[in-house]
Amino acid sequence: MYIGIQMEKVKRTKIADLLSRTDYGTMVNVKGWVRTRRGSKQVNFVAINDGSTIKNVQIVVDVEHFNETVLKEITTGACVSVNGILTESIGAGQTAEIQAREIEILGTCDNTYPLQKKGHSMEFLREIAHLRPRTNTFGAIFRIRHNMAMAIHNFFHERGFFYFHTPIITASDCEGAGQMFQVTTKNLYDLKKDESGSIIYDDDFFGKQASLTVSGQLEGELAATALGSIYTFGPTFRAENSNTPRHLAEFWMVEPEVAFIDLPDLMDLEEEFIKYCVQWALNHCQDDLEFLNKMFDKGLIERLQKVVNTAFVRLPYTEGIRILEQAIADGHKFEFPVYWGADLASEHERYLVEEHFKKPVIMIDYPKEIKAFYMKQNDDGKTVQGTDVLFPQIGEIIGGSVREENHEKLLARIEELNIPMKDMWWYLDTRKFGTCPHGGFGLGFERLVLFVTGMTNIRDVIPFPRTPKNAEF
Ligand code: ATP
Ligand code: MN
Repeated sequence: MYIGIQMEKVKRTKIADLLSRTDYGTMVNVKGWVRTRRGSKQVNFVAINDGSTIKNVQIVVDVEHFNETVLKEITTGACVSVNGILTESIGAGQTAEIQAREIEILGTCDNTYPLQKKGHSMEFLREIAHLRPRTNTFGAIFRIRHNMAMAIHNFFHERGFFYFHTPIITASDCEGAGQMFQVTTKNLYDLKKDESGSIIYDDDFFGKQASLTVSGQLEGELAATALGSIYTFGPTFRAENSNTPRHLAEFWMVEPEVAFIDLPDLMDLEEEFIKYCVQWALNHCQDDLEFLNKMFDKGLIERLQKVVNTAFVRLPYTEGIRILEQAIADGHKFEFPVYWGADLASEHERYLVEEHFKKPVIMIDYPKEIKAFYMKQNDDGKTVQGTDVLFPQIGEIIGGSVREENHEKLLARIEELNIPMKDMWWYLDTRKFGTCPHGGFGLGFERLVLFVTGMTNIRDVIPFPRTPKNAEF
């Protein structure tokens, strides 16, 4: 019975559950991938991981009871099923181990497996993104990523927000054409054009030019002005050719939209929301955070705790510019210029957050020229009620605003900016029929996961990153 090819059927236990069990002497089954194997001629210790936790379970293999072919196939990366007796472990740092009775090799793995040795660079692991979830690091990151998604749904559900699905294909390009990916079924080698050379879309799938969405906000506003409080959580796409550690061409965005909210309440919501997610990670992802803290970033857990326990600074843009100008006067060097009206660069945001305040900052009241058309105009005629939440290491993690609910003011701004509104009549209808004060924000999901995992490149917190010149896997 020790060598069974046809193994006894024992119900599988996940390693996460198994390690907390104390019913020693019970026959259990685990299935997973071999991480390491060591030992002597008499006894082998095989570490198995099944992804349910960062922890491995140790399988103790009494060599003389197993057939040589099976033993030879227990190699790093191989997939095995083990029946054995749950035993109290005497080894340090583990509670239970398994005395193997039967081992079945579900999938062999030869020495061309690229994850033989530990200590690969993050760059190399990106090239094998199909296998990197099997490493400790990426297992931890993707479990945390899942937990952040759960935290987001819980946060909003508990507060009576409805999860609203906005379209991924859109025909409105008001948020900045050029940044969008086109969706077409047209034959690109044979395009129908008018006399001026513009493409005619009437024979395209949607009968007009269509793209992948850059944000669900505009449709989210339709929902908020009916259901009261909603949020979206879905993929968004930006064809911006910015090869930075904080931008992806395909990323996930969380966009709550709330009727009857004003600027102070919007800032409270932003702060409460991020703190809830970070606290969730501290509560639910302890093992994974401890691993990342030890291996990558010794300040990680402390930084997360600090964010949860610190009141975010609320800073008008004008005041922010004054602080940055003072920094320059005191000899601080920035690459990009600072003046009232400038769009702040990441270096400016990080100076304010990491050096000046040493706290997260919610910046408000931006010059209208650098913000989107839909933001509520302040009475000064110069600024709008935008709110960006700026974070240590990350820079902008949230962009939000109170929306302009006045039909005339909104139209005037749209005309001023020459925004093509012919496809946007439905958006303007919200301001015509029972308009109401409302606002919301967009959080880049991967920026949140970046912060919580302490990773430094956004390509390492999404399973299969899409960036300029890269869509492998
Ligand atoms: P940035 O200045 O960093 O490019 P943005 O001003 O273009 O950001 P918004 O349009 O306000 O960002 O989008 C809302 C949020 O979405 C941002 O605060 C950020 O967290 C996230 N985000 C924006 N662009 C990207 C991207 N290319 N990849 C990943 N996340 C993004
Ligand atoms: Mn951007």
